Amino acid sequence: MTTTTLTGSRVLLPGDAGYDDARTVWNGMIDHHPRMIVRAESTDDVVTAVRTARELGLEIGVRCGGHSSVGHAVPDDGLMIDLTPLSGVRVDPAARRAWIQGGALLGVLDRATQKYGLATTAGNVSHTGVGGLTLGGGMGWLARQYGLACDNVASYTMVTAEGEVVRASRTERPELFWGLRGGGGNFGVVTEFEFVLHPVGTRTLVAEYTFPLDRVVPALKAWRDLNAEAPREATFTASIGKDDVATLGFVWVGDPERAGGLLRRFETLGRPSATSVREMSYVELQSREDTVERHSLRRYSKGHYLRQFPDEAIEAFADRGGSGPRPSVGLQAYGGAIADVPDEDAAFSHRATLFEFGTGTSWTDRAEDEVRIAAARRSAAAMAPFASGVYVNALSDEGAEGVRRAYSAEKLAKLVALKRAYDPHNVFHLNHNIQPDL
Ligand code: FAD
Repeated sequence: MTTTTLTGSRVLLPGDAGYDDARTVWNGMIDHHPRMIVRAESTDDVVTAVRTARELGLEIGVRCGGHSSVGHAVPDDGLMIDLTPLSGVRVDPAARRAWIQGGALLGVLDRATQKYGLATTAGNVSHTGVGGLTLGGGMGWLARQYGLACDNVASYTMVTAEGEVVRASRTERPELFWGLRGGGGNFGVVTEFEFVLHPVGTRTLVAEYTFPLDRVVPALKAWRDLNAEAPREATFTASIGKDDVATLGFVWVGDPERAGGLLRRFETLGRPSATSVREMSYVELQSREDTVERHSLRRYSKGHYLRQFPDEAIEAFADRGGSGPRPSVGLQAYGGAIADVPDEDAAFSHRATLFEFGTGTSWTDRAEDEVRIAAARRSAAAMAPFASGVYVNALSDEGAEGVRRAYSAEKLAKLVALKRAYDPHNVFHLNHNIQPDL
């Protein structure tokens, strides 16, 4: 019986000190109570936790950064494998490689690699988990130069549903390597990612042009057209916040002197009411949104991929779902190195995406739940006619229909075959699930 080794401080039961902290995740709406939390300190602990859960017939949830907006990481009455103690990182600057454990946050990776002026693609909020973000694809400010986070993983160490430890790379279990690059947490628990690093330096620039709502549509049209010519150092961004202010701009990673040409082109977008062009370090850039995106607020969000952004879509974006309280909406450009990777290379789908659309809202009073959620749904529905798919990591409560939108039919069939090989009993199902019997 493996449970004998699961004792002491590594196991938290309801009522234990630390239990409530460990089960609390980013979205303040999630209040799940696992029967047992295993704070994994090693790959062996993960093996024991998986075997124990199976012996006890408990559902498994895998927690890294805890950013799953629907709380997949925390199983109600199940066994939560809390990977957060597994957050070590080792960097070999000469080989341009980093080995990071499966429970680490993005900030750990960025800070360790930036000591050498190196980095790899990671998301835009430093308290997001390396685990969930990378397994779903991983979009960030370096993706147009170097591909998604998953395109930069050289190997994975993973614990299977049988409690076996396996490695996947281009040469070891290549079919699993393919599936782990975008297929989410469906195949096992990844305890280590080996990343390829790039000499990006430490300098970045953020340009933001603020427009009143009545001038945003023509500005967005010009912004869209300019995006087609953007250098890969630039990732175009646009948002309309709950303060009804529209901000168009770009994030530049690399020597800011080289951004001068693009800054001049932005002057042709229209008449902004304010302009902000700021240089900052890469580490600052990567944590710039940490406070806005802080823990504990109630949250609801949805997303779409857009392969095109016609004028009608711009009108719908600016309208944010019509009447009632408006949620925030945002766009982030894809293209560049993301689209260079051959489509068949990884489970991640939708490489031809032009922009990723996201809509979301945050609040504190539970009495507002219904009206807030309805507003985000309206805004997502208004953009749905222009959508070409969805990013698996942007899914919330869409269920199986969302998974079908996240992958092409061909890739989904391949993912189902892989799921049957690695997890035929669907032990890892608290995720955007690839069902083995689909
Ligand atoms: P968790 O809730 O801990 O994990 C989510 C799921 O991932 C788990 O249920 C499990 O199935 C799986 N998982 C996590 N770790 C492992 C592991 N080691 N092994 C196996 N399975 C694992 N995405 C982007 O691409 N770019 C962004 O810039 C970005 N910014 C974000 C900012 C915020 C504030 C939020 C809330 C989300 C953001 N996302 C972004 C989406 C993010 O990638 C997903 O929410 C992702 O699932 C979060 O991973 P996590 O480890 O933090 O979450």
